[in-house]
Amino acid sequence: MTSVDIIVPCYNEEEGLALFYQETQKVLEQMKGYTFTYILVDDGSYDQTLNEMKKLAVIDSHVKFLSFSRNFGKESAMYAGLQASTGDLVIIMDADLQHPPSMIPLMMKGIEEGYDCAAARRSSRAGEAPIRSFFSRFFYYLSNQMTNVKMAYGAVDFRIMTRRMVDAVLKLSEVERFSKGIFAWVGFETKWYPYENVERAAGTSKWSFWGLFRYALSGITSFSIVPLRLVALMGIVISLGAFVYILATLTQTLLFGIDVPGYVTTLCAVLFLGGIIELSLGIVGEYIAHMYMESKKRPIYILKESNLQDTKE
Ligand code: UDP
Ligand code: MG
Repeated sequence: MTSVDIIVPCYNEEEGLALFYQETQKVLEQMKGYTFTYILVDDGSYDQTLNEMKKLAVIDSHVKFLSFSRNFGKESAMYAGLQASTGDLVIIMDADLQHPPSMIPLMMKGIEEGYDCAAARRSSRAGEAPIRSFFSRFFYYLSNQMTNVKMAYGAVDFRIMTRRMVDAVLKLSEVERFSKGIFAWVGFETKWYPYENVERAAGTSKWSFWGLFRYALSGITSFSIVPLRLVALMGIVISLGAFVYILATLTQTLLFGIDVPGYVTTLCAVLFLGGIIELSLGIVGEYIAHMYMESKKRPIYILKESNLQDTKE
């Protein structure tokens, strides 16, 4: 028997959790040769999510739960789940049924074929605002240009991983986690499974546009130092330009004398350079912020309650 842990990060999922469990159970019951354990991670929900988890744990001893002291974010929830997992295989999926459980048997075939990872990827972005898909595409383009790790477009956090890949992921213990990058960074062969985007079963998405924007930005800066190099490059280009301009102006002044005062030119130059300097500071600041957060070495999550130890010897 292969043991499989299913990690489900949950933040205010009281409406959908029971349904998620039912739908997933239907699929898992058909699968022979595997024993499944749920690791439900309550990411500091302020609704009845934890109680829903406890109810499930009463009816099914294979349901384990962890509950955070506050909302630490999905990344932290996934990390906690991975740390708690002991199975030969680990599945990560969302609680809102946007990651169809019916794909599990199919994806499991990939693992049986010898892949270390079987992951889902959205083939369409139906039901999503065009502006959001545009920025998403742009983000993948940018980050793939700037980093060595190649992230697959449309990849979601729905995947099955082998123990050795999970152990590798756990070795990256950074506080500011960007899983899409981490999964790509650790390597191993991934088999991709396209699927059609599904609407949420219940509740609402926890992502705002700016939330996503910040996430994408920190994703790029945690995996690439290209933006820092760009700052230096920008400095070189502007300095060269300025040098040429100074030479030209100097020659002109020597040959023809000083003409009309260059008010507009000066203003443009000052504003332009001011902008560039602010931008560069911002980019450098982004990296300092990362260093600051990492150097504090704060825990990635704080546990409030769990039934993990209950049955363990
Ligand atoms: N989630 C979480 N912590 C958060 C936000 C979300 O654990 O701070 C969980 C959420 O309960 C869900 C999954 O992460 O199971 C995906 O979240 P959501 O559906 O809001 O994101 P989307 O599907 O819109 O990308
Ligand atoms: Mg969702």
